Amino acid sequence: MSKIILYYKYVRIDNPQKLAGQQELICKKLGLKGRILIAEEGINGTVEGADVAIQEYIADLKSHPEFTDMNVKISDGVGKTFPKLSIKVRKEIVSSHLGAKDLNPIEVTGKYLSAEDLHSWIHDKSKEFYIVDMRNDYEQKGGHFAGSIFSGMQNFRDLQKVLPRLKHLQNKTIVTVCTGGVRCEKASGFLLKNGFNDVYQLKDGIVTYMEKFPNEDFLGKLYVFDGRVLMGFNLNDPRHVVVGKCDKCGETSENYINCADPLCHNHFICCKKCVTKNGEGFCTLKCRIKHGIRKFTKELKGN
Ligand SMILES: [Zn+2]
Ligand SMILES: [Zn+2]
Repeated sequence: MSKIILYYKYVRIDNPQKLAGQQELICKKLGLKGRILIAEEGINGTVEGADVAIQEYIADLKSHPEFTDMNVKISDGVGKTFPKLSIKVRKEIVSSHLGAKDLNPIEVTGKYLSAEDLHSWIHDKSKEFYIVDMRNDYEQKGGHFAGSIFSGMQNFRDLQKVLPRLKHLQNKTIVTVCTGGVRCEKASGFLLKNGFNDVYQLKDGIVTYMEKFPNEDFLGKLYVFDGRVLMGFNLNDPRHVVVGKCDKCGETSENYINCADPLCHNHFICCKKCVTKNGEGFCTLKCRIKHGIRKFTKELKGN
């Protein structure tokens, strides 16, 4: 049985290159595949491997003094979730383009709200608060908390875009949510720095909430950046709903594709009826026309 783990920690790393080298060694030795980002601000990883290999990896990870208290989320894998192993040293472990110096979760971040606490906030109905989904729009379309506010982002680098959307909530209680928590650490700090007063972040992310309360308040499935695309819990549960809809025709669908125009490559849901025979689709008519013209002029030049 293979396992997939998801983990991150914001902690000062003095020598990211050295850590990357060590990670490379251990991952290769254990036959793990996946993605690990390392920066001076911390580490963010998701890898898959055989159950025993993953256990050994976690033990090794926690043997680093900075990572002893690392929260590692484990789920079942299929063995082919990642095509390869990629370990990179970057400026940020989640790129916000605002600069790690201006947005340092070690200094400023929202208050942590556990899955249990959010669950009781939702079900008590006595507290006024707003769930703001800090994931990208296309992720939110495959599954989201009922009544949550979409970020309006296509990429976390557009973080600035959430401000006008949330302006009216500046003095309300906000709970930010994202897949595993790593983006919320920055996003919640960003809101605090921009005049929001009462900002919480869902601790350990939607993945933990779904595990503890499957098919309750988070509707649909969780988008993940690997071969699984969408991840669901207890799919036989009659309460499970498919919330994904084809961007073209509105039919229920969970079929994510990239726009066939290589200059666009937009990621969106497109049902089986709306793709061409070879599974291609265009996000807009504009892309379809642009692509057609480009192909046509190419053919002309070729003749
Ligand atoms: Zn369709
Ligand atoms: Zn497009």
